[in-house]
Amino acid sequence: TTQIRVGIVGYGNLGRGVETAIGLSPDMSLTGVFTRRDPASVTTVGTATEVFAIDELDRDRDDIDVLILCGGSRSDLPEQSPALAARFSIVDSYDNHAHIPEHFAAVDAAARPAGTTAVISTGWDPGLFSLNRVFSEAIIPQGATYTFWGRGLSQGHSDALRRVPGVAGGVQYTLPSEAAMERVRAGEHPDLSTRERHTRECFVVLEEGADAETVRAEIVSMPDYFEPYDTTVHFISAQELERDHQGMPHGGFVIRSGTTSPGTQQVIEYQLALESNPEFTASVLVAYARAAARMNRAGVVGAQTVYDVAPGLLSPLSPEQLRADYL
Ligand code: NAP
Repeated sequence: TTQIRVGIVGYGNLGRGVETAIGLSPDMSLTGVFTRRDPASVTTVGTATEVFAIDELDRDRDDIDVLILCGGSRSDLPEQSPALAARFSIVDSYDNHAHIPEHFAAVDAAARPAGTTAVISTGWDPGLFSLNRVFSEAIIPQGATYTFWGRGLSQGHSDALRRVPGVAGGVQYTLPSEAAMERVRAGEHPDLSTRERHTRECFVVLEEGADAETVRAEIVSMPDYFEPYDTTVHFISAQELERDHQGMPHGGFVIRSGTTSPGTQQVIEYQLALESNPEFTASVLVAYARAAARMNRAGVVGAQTVYDVAPGLLSPLSPEQLRADYL
């Protein structure tokens, strides 16, 4: 078996995670990081990692089997994924659920004529959670599926929080409702409102002279972001924010319960408890990059999702080894 040679496009949280995850996969090697910034301004985790300007991908090269795209879903991936899929096999973590069909179509139109393989929207949600929603529903057709997120740091909600006047800094955590999860596990199939599924917890550092009660009222009444939830606001010092809230934990649950005959209850539960959301997402991207390279060698081209990738292709082990030791 030959090594799978990987390029990282974009070096933020996910890019750093991919760099580290490739180091844990002996069958994969890192060609380099490709960035839109001045390469000299980017310091990598690994001292041996080479950093190149993204234009370096414009020339013909035979040292990359697959690119792992680590840009943001809002404005980077809608451009970068189709553009790069026209030249290379790629994997991305596009997570704007409502726009996945358009993203798939744009990437497919670029990848198919180019003969590249592009696995889009992988990670954990979308990604592993998407797989589990489909597995459990296919197996228990009569029932209901629930996704609960958390406890986790939400980047979007933390950004919204920091835009509130009087807020100097802060973070927001999403928490699943334990009571709601217990009802689901008990097979109740409850109709849960947004407020009943999750709660939100904010840790806020006030600006000098800001009034805590005014800031709290402003946060909890913010439409879409906080108003539909029971939101708790804690005021903390800048030191506490620095000391206790620098991690990026996340995770959650996909639970399906249903019946296979009258009165016979079946429950499937999948849980992720992640200390680092970007390091975990990066690890999923690396496994799917292995699959993308193998699918490309086998002639499977065009855009693909987690539903199109056979599980055995994610493993560094051979089909023979998997059958002998895991089946
Ligand atoms: P990020 O840290 O903001 O990085 C995004 C891009 O911003 C990088 O690729 C980098 O591109 C640029 N960048 C990073 N640091 C910079 C800096 N100091 N100055 C200027 N530019 C900088 O985002 P992320 O946390 O890695 O997340 C990327 C995406 O992953 C998210 O948008 C989200 O959609 C997705 N995601 C998906 C899942 C899932 O389960 N599917 C889970 C988590 C995240 P250049 O190097 O080219 O400048």
